[in-house]
Amino acid sequence: MDPRAVEVALPLPLQSTFTYRVPDGFDLPSRGVRVLVPFGPRRVIGLVTGPAVSRPETMKDVVEVLDEVPLAPPPLMDLAAWMGEHYLAAPGECYRLVLPPAGVRASRAVVRLTGGEPSDADPVLQALQAGPLPLSTLAKRMRRDPTARIARLRREGRVEVDQDLARPGFRQLRFAVLTAAAADLKPRGRAQAEVLGRLTAAGGRALIPDVLRDRPSLRGALDRLVEQGAIVIEEERAVRTPEMLEGPARLRPEATADQVSVLEPVLAALGQGFAPFLLHGVTGSGKTEVYFRAIERTLEQGRSALLLVPEIALTPLLVRAAVGRLGRVVSVLHSELSVGERHDQWWRLREGDARVAIGARSAVFAPLTEVGLVIVDEEHEAAYKQDESPRYHGRDVAVMRARLEGAVALLGSATPSLESNHNAHAGKYRRLVLPRRIGSQGMARVDVVDRRQTLKAGGDPILTPSLRDALAERLQRKEQSLLLLNRRGYATSLLCRECGMQAMCPNCSVALTLHKGGRVALCHYCAYETSAPRACGSCQGEYLRLTGYGTEKVLEAVRAALPTARVERLDRDLAVRRGAVARVLASFEAGETDILVGTQMIAKGHDFPRVTLVGVVDADVGLGLPDFRAAERTFQLLTQVAGRAGRADLPGEVILQSHLPDHYALQLACAQDYDAFFDREMEFRRTMAYPPAATLVNLILRARDSTEGAAAADAIATRLRSQAAGNFRVLGPAFAPLARLRQEHRFQVLLKGRRKAMRDAVRAALVERYGSVRWPGVAVDVDPVTIM
Ligand code: ADP
Ligand code: ZN
Repeated sequence: MDPRAVEVALPLPLQSTFTYRVPDGFDLPSRGVRVLVPFGPRRVIGLVTGPAVSRPETMKDVVEVLDEVPLAPPPLMDLAAWMGEHYLAAPGECYRLVLPPAGVRASRAVVRLTGGEPSDADPVLQALQAGPLPLSTLAKRMRRDPTARIARLRREGRVEVDQDLARPGFRQLRFAVLTAAAADLKPRGRAQAEVLGRLTAAGGRALIPDVLRDRPSLRGALDRLVEQGAIVIEEERAVRTPEMLEGPARLRPEATADQVSVLEPVLAALGQGFAPFLLHGVTGSGKTEVYFRAIERTLEQGRSALLLVPEIALTPLLVRAAVGRLGRVVSVLHSELSVGERHDQWWRLREGDARVAIGARSAVFAPLTEVGLVIVDEEHEAAYKQDESPRYHGRDVAVMRARLEGAVALLGSATPSLESNHNAHAGKYRRLVLPRRIGSQGMARVDVVDRRQTLKAGGDPILTPSLRDALAERLQRKEQSLLLLNRRGYATSLLCRECGMQAMCPNCSVALTLHKGGRVALCHYCAYETSAPRACGSCQGEYLRLTGYGTEKVLEAVRAALPTARVERLDRDLAVRRGAVARVLASFEAGETDILVGTQMIAKGHDFPRVTLVGVVDADVGLGLPDFRAAERTFQLLTQVAGRAGRADLPGEVILQSHLPDHYALQLACAQDYDAFFDREMEFRRTMAYPPAATLVNLILRARDSTEGAAAADAIATRLRSQAAGNFRVLGPAFAPLARLRQEHRFQVLLKGRRKAMRDAVRAALVERYGSVRWPGVAVDVDPVTIM
């Protein structure tokens, strides 16, 4: 094997890594270093994953080595490698996750001449004669990308590329500072006197833009004073600090006896190698305080900590509390950060300036070193699963990261996923329980209103009399209410009364949802949008009827029933506006809203002390979905939203409206009996061989042409069946539940059984059909969260 050949992962949806040769002028880059390499007609930045694993016939040369030290710490490189294997994902797409966010380019490098006069008319050398230049500046002057040219000059020893000078790309703040020499200097001219005067007034040190404020012409005088030694320029890097990282310090409450008892084994395990825990704490039991204390201990031990939340926009309180408690060492990886802020936070973590990373799913790849603790809050949340390639589960990756780092993994939830609870039963995770709420309030009382009865009696289809009265009562007492309906929009479909056809998305096999009071028709899958049709697309009939209802309609119904109430809505439609979610939550928190209507977004970990009523408009949404997790999801959602009622010192009440009041998911959510639900649901999973009783691999094959797609799916399923050998079962091919999406037909092949055997067989089948580089139109979902 060529000792100068390295394996490189490219940030492309390709199933293999590629081998390149490192030319003699470069030090051999180690694993985790970025390199610039030719790929077809392009140049791309890849990541060295190690020495070459095979010897290809032809091998291209690395154009440039971009880092002196590995950008990704070794455990993160291991994590990316594991993900590629575990999820059958494109290696380059996994490795991309451990790199800084997009926008960090090689052009940060600074190029300088190394000794001697340039002897030829090379434009690069000439440009550098006046002094070192950033690569990006050179590129602008050169018209053509000078990277390859510079790489050759570097190998010839004629230029040097300095990565470190500006590599992290922080904005530099430049200060002018008076020196001792300034005292002996007689300023020449009024401009110099003005500069010195301004600096003295500022206490001897000021930002250059401040010194020059309103008079940019002072620049020359400043430069001359620098030449004379009266002023020196100091540079400091400016970290763009997101607003959310600022806030008042927080007090540290006395831990309760329950908190102390769950903390004891966690604290004892810190610093002792990998140890996974499942913290089952009912809503309002004080899990956050347990997290904070474990993080504090981790920091004391000189190690760093990760705290994952399902959705950062929905957890402003947690973020503020964390910043208040832990201070400047916290970095928040928020989807609403600007590119610059994101970049700065990444480097703060990489360089150890920040030691605690808080963020959603992808924060599991935060470039912290010496990680001692990985926390996953609300570990049951489906939001942890990424629904595009690589289709990883943030919780599972978090546990693997903890294992690779030798850290404690702490998974917390009031409604643990069946997987995690199963792992706890099997002894893989140590189970900790917080059985009680903080404070004097017990769990809220839950009542079910049987919709079948109230429907017969007529009346409002959205608010039953009990729910409406309960809302009115809260309004009178100046308490707050949450109203859940896990369905956004105004109406769920537009139906033709003459021929019975529904308005459908032209690209997907999905009915259009009506929004904006019924004026706009929207596909929730491909975002197709049109104004609501006036006539049936099928029979041209003009008698169209809106059926079903979503959060928009609920808002309307509440406003009609309680005209004095201040009502707001929180759902995904709102979330498209930057900052809107935070505004609605803040207004509710401040008591400026009486009733908050929303989808599952209102059920997440909020802690609103003045909420005493939670109404679930239709508890059956989701129960009818053709998905093995339908009951689990419903149980979790109802238990979570019920947990929002009655915190602090006010008792809570929950009203569920349902057509299926006898369903076990509803019954057990009312009884808040997690253990009974777990046993009951596990029975179903065992009988049907669904997770956690079995492993699933879901293959979705997409094709423009339906016949072609069906044939491909058939061939792959046949091939997989021949490999099964009793290790797994192959179901399908069948039309996927979403049979058409974005104009493509979708076929599904579902595998149930042993993980390794399934993975090997799927890989072999896909390589046989498509080759080892690209699997076009195939989505492999290992451990799917949903098979819809
Ligand atoms: P969970 O995340 O388990 O639902 P939280 O962490 O939100 O619960 O805690 C519920 C409430 O109890 C919060 O208002 C929190 O500030 C408060 N709390 C938690 N621990 C303590 C404590 N030790 N002493 C006093 N209040 C506490
Ligand atoms: Zn669509």
